[in-house]
Amino acid sequence: MFIYEGERKTPVAGSYDVIVCGGGPSGIIAAVAAARNGAKTLLIERYGFVGGMVTNALVTPISEFCKNGKRIIDGMPYELMELANRFGGANISFESGNYPIDDEVFKLAAQRMLLESGVTLLYHSYFSDCITTDGQISHIIVQNKAGRVAYEGKVIVDCTGDADVVRAAGYKTVKETILQPATLWFQLSGVDTKALEEQGLFEDAKNDQLPVSETIRNRLDELNRKGEMPLFGGPWISKGFNEGTVSINLLREATDASSPEQFTKTECNLRENLFKVVEVMRENFPEFKNCRVLKSGTQTGVRETYHIVGMYQLTTDDVINPKPFPDTIAKGAHVIDIHKPDSIDQELVVLEQEYNIPYGIMVPYDSKNIIVAGRSVCADEAAFGTVRVMAVCMAMGQAAGTAAAIGSKKGLAMSKMDIPLLVQTLKEQGAVIDFDNCK
Ligand SMILES: Cc1cc2nc3c(=O)[nH]c(=O)nc-3n(C[C@H](O)[C@H](O)[C@H](O)COP(=O)(O)OP(=O)(O)OC[C@H]3O[C@@H](n4cnc5c(N)ncnc54)[C@H](O)[C@@H]3O)c2cc1C
Repeated sequence: MFIYEGERKTPVAGSYDVIVCGGGPSGIIAAVAAARNGAKTLLIERYGFVGGMVTNALVTPISEFCKNGKRIIDGMPYELMELANRFGGANISFESGNYPIDDEVFKLAAQRMLLESGVTLLYHSYFSDCITTDGQISHIIVQNKAGRVAYEGKVIVDCTGDADVVRAAGYKTVKETILQPATLWFQLSGVDTKALEEQGLFEDAKNDQLPVSETIRNRLDELNRKGEMPLFGGPWISKGFNEGTVSINLLREATDASSPEQFTKTECNLRENLFKVVEVMRENFPEFKNCRVLKSGTQTGVRETYHIVGMYQLTTDDVINPKPFPDTIAKGAHVIDIHKPDSIDQELVVLEQEYNIPYGIMVPYDSKNIIVAGRSVCADEAAFGTVRVMAVCMAMGQAAGTAAAIGSKKGLAMSKMDIPLLVQTLKEQGAVIDFDNCK
């Protein structure tokens, strides 16, 4: 059933060269890159802070800046990590290039970088629609406390993670029939972290894996089989920045986060499960006997929903047997990491070396003035399992924001990008493309 809303007259609140929708890892860097390349840039974010999954879902290891001793992601993403490190909220010394981050510090560091780069920030504003003619977006519509408001934009960068703008503009998207599960990440205080450290629990994170405690996993699995413990994954337990605190990725549920009804049920179920699990931890592990919930994500973390149908689809073969692309804009190297929605299982393939990421996976087929960065890029299941991590999302953000600035200045469609100029600009601004500028 439908209802006709009738004609609307919507106030136009501003006009920009580049509008970035969504302030997660990809959107932050996309907006910084667009502004630093001379575009008048607006960043729209639905919450009152940026950071995406880092800050709204507490996903606090940022993966993966290095491979085989080489830094494969540099430029603006690494600059943000250095800034957070200077603020005392990031550890960028791990050889793995998997960097722990303090979510509160990340909010400040990212916001500072955005404002100092000249980006206009608009918080508490939800992208809801766009006005298009023949696929060319003239305005985006946001909903906020001022009502429905339009912004004129020459190029739109969709960093919503769910391809919200791409779908509203009428471009094709796809959704896997089996989606990776969602996870309510949480932090505990009152944990005997010294005892956990002595058991070597936090060591793996410095190497190439996030830590999983086999002892804790086996006991939880046993309890789960007896029906005394909800479904879980991992668990991956990282040491918090404050003594006695840990950050835990454990709770999970099969869901489709693009369905508000389903995702509401998931939020409710996982909130119940969080407190059950804490009780189980207190009763079964002496290091946790005095623990309390410090905080949980503002929302449950979403691994995937929609992907664009791009000019190119990154494939499993592209990441396992890396090849050069004429339009390489970044590199990735994280393990192929596919979580199973309704079991403890996880499919992991460790990559021997870094692979190349082509520009085409960020551009909806036949795009005029829209480009995406982040977890909604065009990739098959296994390639998505590696390209979705946050350092890679940020590197794609730098490329998408730079392309948007070039496109808005030169009047170029995103599908007709001046690739040599884009690549040259990215290299000059620190991006690692062919290691000639790698540190
Ligand atoms: C449980 C879990 C564990 C993970 N583990 C790791 C890990 O160990 N290491 C790692 O690097 N990565 C990990 N990831 C993956 C990583 O967090 C995501 O893939 C990454 O955050 C995607 O970045 P993004 O910028 O594309 O999207 P997001 O981080 O999802 O950011 C999207 C932003 O857009 C905003 N937004 C969305 N829709 C709208 C709208 N309509 N209007 C306005 N704003 C909007 C959101 O509020 C958010 O700020 C994990 C993810 C999950 C869920």
